[in-house]
Amino acid sequence: MSNSRSSLLNICLGFARSRLPQACQLCGARVAGQLLCAPCAADLPRLPDDRCPQCALPSPGGAVCGACLKHPPAFDRTVAVHAYGFPLDALVRHCKYAGALDLTDWFAASLAEALAAQPRVDLILPMPLHEARLAERGFNQAVEIARRLAPRLGIPWSPQGCRRTRDTPPQAGLDLKARRRNLRDAFRCDLDLTGKHVAVLDDVMTSGASLDELARMIRAAGAASVTAWVVARTL
Ligand SMILES: [Zn+2]
Ligand SMILES: [Zn+2]
Repeated sequence: MSNSRSSLLNICLGFARSRLPQACQLCGARVAGQLLCAPCAADLPRLPDDRCPQCALPSPGGAVCGACLKHPPAFDRTVAVHAYGFPLDALVRHCKYAGALDLTDWFAASLAEALAAQPRVDLILPMPLHEARLAERGFNQAVEIARRLAPRLGIPWSPQGCRRTRDTPPQAGLDLKARRRNLRDAFRCDLDLTGKHVAVLDDVMTSGASLDELARMIRAAGAASVTAWVVARTL
């Protein structure tokens, strides 16, 4: 068995063990009231300290990167907790496709910690899922994270303020330009956000095209600023 397959098997075993209380989701070690043991949590992929404040990609000295200077995204800042890589990708997929919603609580707790020193916002809007996807999956992981994050921060959130009006084809394999085209007018925002500081929340930022398009709609609804909050950022 290849390394990655045996690692995946280990993760599955970890999840199976986690059905017993107090076991690390990744290695099955005994933990007290935590989803991951301290060594597994410390081993999760990190973002570099020097990163662009706007898109969270590596940037010398933590300055706004060339890509953001050339084509500024509609969000002003990005707060990302982790880099998107193994084994966090397996946790995110397990949450999304196997409905392991207890993970959303852990994602929310990680975000709350990362947000402690960040400017406050007035409203949290989770990335909407098209109703066809929602019917297929049964839940929207971004909504589930927002539901658990908002009370921790004492900030209101809205599960229905923004809708995904087009069921866009999968973004994988498309370059950034094609992703943007693919997403044009994919969202609708029915809220009056005049003067509001808004956070848009998702589990993972890949190219940032979806969050950019959503942020564009939120700005069009009058928001004074938009910040992207994500659990993980693809490097
Ligand atoms: Zn562990
Ligand atoms: Zn940037």
